[in-house]
Amino acid sequence: MRLVIMGPPGAGKGTQATRLASRLGIPHLSSGELLRDAVAAGSEPGTLVGEIMARGELVPDDIVKRIVAERATAADASDGFILDGFPRNIEQAEALDRAFATRGVELDAVLRIDVDESVLVDRVTERADRARTAGEPVRSDDTPEVLRERIRAYRRETAPLLDLYTARDLLETVDGSRSIDEVTAQLVDAVTARNRAR
Ligand code: AMP
Repeated sequence: MRLVIMGPPGAGKGTQATRLASRLGIPHLSSGELLRDAVAAGSEPGTLVGEIMARGELVPDDIVKRIVAERATAADASDGFILDGFPRNIEQAEALDRAFATRGVELDAVLRIDVDESVLVDRVTERADRARTAGEPVRSDDTPEVLRERIRAYRRETAPLLDLYTARDLLETVDGSRSIDEVTAQLVDAVTARNRAR
């Protein structure tokens, strides 16, 4: 299946996409992870991309589209994948449509994790605290100030995609305020129903 997972920063997209990918046996493609890896490996104009990410703004479309396309055309993604963090604006959604059309495949569903914005700052602060306690690296964009910019970018650029995918009857919304297991269960149910209807 070809799936997209959407939701504001801190909604739990990464956690849920990882779980769903292992249940479905398809790779989890996170544009944020791919960008962080590219910056760490020095394979991108690191300072430019790294600085944009550190500010919580969107990286230029051309760079993201190229990095995601490279990963999405790898052999292990030929039967499907779950895209996390991409598309993030209309231009990227159109690029995804074109890529699918070229390959004669379709998007099966867009999974939206719906979370009230008021809890996002707390969640991201907790994520950073947990990583710190576990001695793991803390994302430099997991600070309240940068998170506010990421939420603004989501509202301005990404949220309009919800209307687009609703109009195409691809959107499945789950309640992201529930426990991690409950959110996974809702997502699995939504995907199973879509798969049955295929
Ligand atoms: P994420 O891991 O999805 O929260 O993404 C972290 C950061 O990577 C974002 O705040 C953006 O700076 C950048 N990023 C990730 N995906 C995209 C995308 N599709 N388009 C533009 N920038 C992105």
